[in-house]
Amino acid sequence: MIERHLNSLPLWFLENLLNHREIYHFISTRVGGFSNPPYDSLNLGFHVGDNPELVLKNRERLATAMKIPLDNFITARQVHNSNVAVITEELKGRGAFNFDTAISATDAMVTDTPNICLMVLQADCVPLLFFDLKKKVIGVAHAGWKGTVRVVAQNTVKVLKEKFNCSPDDILVGIGPAIGPCCYEIGPEVVIQIDKAFHNKREYINETSDGKHYFNLWEANKMQLVQSGIPEKNIEIAKICTYCNHPVFFSYRHQQRETGRFGAGIMLK
Ligand SMILES: [Zn+2]
Repeated sequence: MIERHLNSLPLWFLENLLNHREIYHFISTRVGGFSNPPYDSLNLGFHVGDNPELVLKNRERLATAMKIPLDNFITARQVHNSNVAVITEELKGRGAFNFDTAISATDAMVTDTPNICLMVLQADCVPLLFFDLKKKVIGVAHAGWKGTVRVVAQNTVKVLKEKFNCSPDDILVGIGPAIGPCCYEIGPEVVIQIDKAFHNKREYINETSDGKHYFNLWEANKMQLVQSGIPEKNIEIAKICTYCNHPVFFSYRHQQRETGRFGAGIMLK
C-alpha cells in the first residue's frame, strides 16, 4: 500500500488496484476528521455512538478528497455474515447519509454499475476490494473471524462468477489493513469455531508456548480467494496491523471496543 494526500487528507491505496483507469479506490485512516475521542477523528460509522453530524462531515471530507459525490456512496448494515448484495443504480446513495437506509444485513456488495462507490467500514476486521479487469465489475467485503469462518470472501467470488460471468483469473483483490497475526489473540471458543470451519487445519492459527492462540485473518482470507481460483499474484495483502498502527487506523481491540470505523471503497468510473 502507498499513502497519498488528496486535498490534504491522508488516504491509502493498494498498489495492485492503483493505476487502473477504470476505477477509483481508497482506504481511509482515522486522521483528518472532526470527531472527538474515542471516535477521533475521521470516523465514518453512523452506528458506533458518535455524533451523526460529525460523521457526516467526515464522510463529506472523504467524498471531497476523492472527488466522488457522497450521493454516489453505498454502505451496508454489516452483520458478520456471508451475504453478498448485488447493487444496482436505484440503490445508489443508500446508507450514504445515515444508517437507516444502509443495505440491510450484508457484509459484501458487488456491482457492474459505474459511479457507485461501494464502501465497507471496519476497525480490525479485514476489508477486501475486488476488481474484474475484463468484465469491469467491482466488489467489497468485510470479514472478521465470523465472516472468515462463514467464507464471505469466497461467496463474493462466487457471486462475481455466477452473476457477472467473471473469470477468477481476471479478478484483482486487495486485502486492506486489519488486525494482524501479531495481535489477534482469540479465545478457546473462537478456536473451536475456526477448527470446525477449517477442518482442524491449524495453518492460520499460531499457538504460543504459553498456550495463547493468534489468528491470521489476512492469510485465511487469501487462502479462500486462492481456493476460489484467484491467482496468488492477483492478491495484495496490505500487511498493516490496525492494532499496531492504532494512531493511524481505528482498532476495536486497542480501544477496548469503543472507537470509530475507517472505510475501504471502490467505484467504477
Ligand atoms: Zn499487530
